[in-house]
Amino acid sequence: MTMTNKVIPYGKQNISQHDIDAVVDVLKSDWLTQGPKVPAFEQAIADYCDVNFACATNSATSALHIACLALGVGESDIVWTSPISFVASANCALYCGAKVDFVDIDLDTGNMSPGELEQKLISAKKIDSLPKVVIPVHLAGQSCDMKAIYELATKYGFKIIEDASHAIGAKYLDKSVGNCDYSDITVFSFHPVKIITSAEGGMAVTNSQTLDKSMKRLRSHGITSNPDEMTEPSHGPWYYQQIDLGFNYRMTELQAALGLSQLKKLDQFVAERNKLANIYTNEFKNLPISHLHQSSQSYSSYHLYIIRLTGDAVKKHKELICSLREHNITSHLHYIPIHIQPYYQALGFKKSDFPNAIEYYHSALTIPLHPKLTNLEQDYIIKTIIEFL
Ligand SMILES: *Cc1c(COP(=O)(O)O)cnc(C)c1O
Repeated sequence: MTMTNKVIPYGKQNISQHDIDAVVDVLKSDWLTQGPKVPAFEQAIADYCDVNFACATNSATSALHIACLALGVGESDIVWTSPISFVASANCALYCGAKVDFVDIDLDTGNMSPGELEQKLISAKKIDSLPKVVIPVHLAGQSCDMKAIYELATKYGFKIIEDASHAIGAKYLDKSVGNCDYSDITVFSFHPVKIITSAEGGMAVTNSQTLDKSMKRLRSHGITSNPDEMTEPSHGPWYYQQIDLGFNYRMTELQAALGLSQLKKLDQFVAERNKLANIYTNEFKNLPISHLHQSSQSYSSYHLYIIRLTGDAVKKHKELICSLREHNITSHLHYIPIHIQPYYQALGFKKSDFPNAIEYYHSALTIPLHPKLTNLEQDYIIKTIIEFL
């Protein structure tokens, strides 16, 4: 059965005329960068998430890097994250010269397992190698069990950065992911494949003014124009000081205008994603397929629709992904466990270090989900999978 020769992508941006007009307006304005749109986007995200401060960056990767630096991550430190994530969740610690380690996932949700985290903390404490920062990743848009992780942070004294690259618009305990009730900093991505886009872009939100100030310096060369942060009185109106070693991680006005315009549709996008996800969940009921278990404490933004093959069907995992692609349905795999990447293998990780992540890798696949997916396309995807199995 083929429906069309058009390839159905696993995810896709949704750009309206309003988005286009917003970007064109910026092109006609005086400011292409460092103008009013970036602070307006930051304020809008802070308001949406009910958090005090927001720092826009040119990517979530940059946001993760400066979030680690603002929390003081350096050469003698250790950062833990999930092996089932995009490599950026771990690389950010290596950029700071720190060591990285992983906490295995809960196979039901694909998220960092608080039980595994506690066991690993108990062992690490004995050998005096506790992490400085833990980075839970909200896989596919469902929040991790942040209350449990936060309780462990209080007990063992680590900081938390939520990698919410998938989870803008999601809720945890009826509140927006990003309110930082259970973390120091939360990071979002606005890459085109994510829930809302600024083409490239990221945001680090926090309730701490100190962390926010530090991140805002680090995204712009470590420079400050604020006399209160300077080591001596200003020399004059031209004066600024570099007080940290920062970067150019700034978001442009074009990106911020697009992000601001997209934010207006965030709730609608997430509602549409949930609707389509529920159809998948119902249609696959009697198949050897399991879904990422959805906790009653959370409302997922469904950045991805991930299924896992169960029983004997696991043997046909690769075959299914290839078959879907032959049917013009882009199936993907989120993610290859980070610790089996050659770069991480060279750091000494063994494949068997995180057995749940490996089991997940051999059974999980992503099928298309985005607000522009039509009913016809979704039916075709469902039928193709049912026929295969
Ligand atoms: C997309 C993604 C990132 C990186 O986002 P960019 O904005 O592309 O830098 C980091 N972590 C996770 C979990 C992601 O999915």
